[in-house]
Amino acid sequence: MKRREFIVNSAVAITGAMVLSGCKKRELLKSENQVTKRKYKDIYVPLLALGCMRLPMTKNNVVDMVELDKMVQYCMEHGANYFDTAYMYVNGTSEECMGKVLSKYKRSDFFLASKSPIYKMNSKEDVRKIFDEQRKRCKVDYFDFYMAHNINQNTYDTYKKVDMYNELLKLKDEGLIKYLGFSFHGTPDILKEVVSKDKWDFAQLQVNYLDWDVVKAHQQYDIVQQKGIPVTVMEPLRGGGLVNLSEKALNKLKEKYPNETPASFGLRWAASQNNVVTVLSGMSNLEQVKQNIDTFTNFKPMDKNELKVADEISKIIQSQGEINCTACKYCLEVCPREINIPAIFQIYNQYKVTKNKMFFGIYYNTLNEDERADKCINCSLCTKNCPQALKIPELLKKIDSEVKTLG
Ligand code: SF4
Ligand code: SF4
Repeated sequence: MKRREFIVNSAVAITGAMVLSGCKKRELLKSENQVTKRKYKDIYVPLLALGCMRLPMTKNNVVDMVELDKMVQYCMEHGANYFDTAYMYVNGTSEECMGKVLSKYKRSDFFLASKSPIYKMNSKEDVRKIFDEQRKRCKVDYFDFYMAHNINQNTYDTYKKVDMYNELLKLKDEGLIKYLGFSFHGTPDILKEVVSKDKWDFAQLQVNYLDWDVVKAHQQYDIVQQKGIPVTVMEPLRGGGLVNLSEKALNKLKEKYPNETPASFGLRWAASQNNVVTVLSGMSNLEQVKQNIDTFTNFKPMDKNELKVADEISKIIQSQGEINCTACKYCLEVCPREINIPAIFQIYNQYKVTKNKMFFGIYYNTLNEDERADKCINCSLCTKNCPQALKIPELLKKIDSEVKTLG
């Protein structure tokens, strides 16, 4: 790690800071190593943002607030002061956790982004009601960045029915939202309609060197760029899929760039796209925060050769037959049988990369029997919630039959 100029004062160390919470704002001691910033309208935004979908968890499966506090403090000290949460993240607890930790800082010292959960809306009134609930959860008066969350072919009708854009615009006019945007996981046709009808400050898109081709992310990127809408990037590492590369893909990276890590390479690729304001990375511990901040300190965009290697790695991954799951867990919220869909897909993907049948069987058997693929009742509720539009029941059936061949 790079040397930090200032030693963190013991008065603001974690336990002391917990006591100070609510009575005095934490003193911000800035390191000499600051994350590179990009100009966005009239502000400067850090090129790296903390995505709050995969917060650190304790063994009891609740957010590890001590680790989170350290992560946020490190981010703040290094200028990575943009935090992106949402109503539904971490089983609906992310906003509250971020509110608790961020309330120790001066409001003007950080950018907070959150999202309006379209799937929860029944009427226009719900948009403001839920917005106010989110402000309370996050302990803020306003959001810097606020989005209609996950516009796609399944949510677009509700988005229109509750007149979400105009409801959000009213909140912006009242100064409660500084920059209004949307996150998107739908088809190019819907995206064209969304950006033609309404005026947006930014769009949050899934941009990484694999999805550029696989889910045609470049089409979405081009559509918003043509409209002059800046992009905030989600899933730059595809839910960790671009961190755990297969041996072949990793060799390709290391033979050209032996000192580069897959995480740094993936993040740099996303940040090298010219219309990108910030790259959200869902970090789950302090070590990841430190590594990512290193990547974005004195950031240099990728050159032509690096972009070419990324393309070659993408082709290797595409040939491996993995399932395009980002482990967002949205499907888990609706599955009546509580099938552990992302874990099943992760184990399967590992098998596709390693081709190791024995380990496939061993890992699959670590799942509880009632959360395995054969318990699926084919109700398709999960499919409607999947931002990657995966045909989940079909995939589970396929995996189940492969598991059965293992004996
Ligand atoms: S189709 Fe299967 S996995 Fe999907 S929600 Fe229904 S039971 Fe769960
Ligand atoms: S299957 Fe879809 S909804 Fe479920 S975790 Fe994967 S990407 Fe998310």
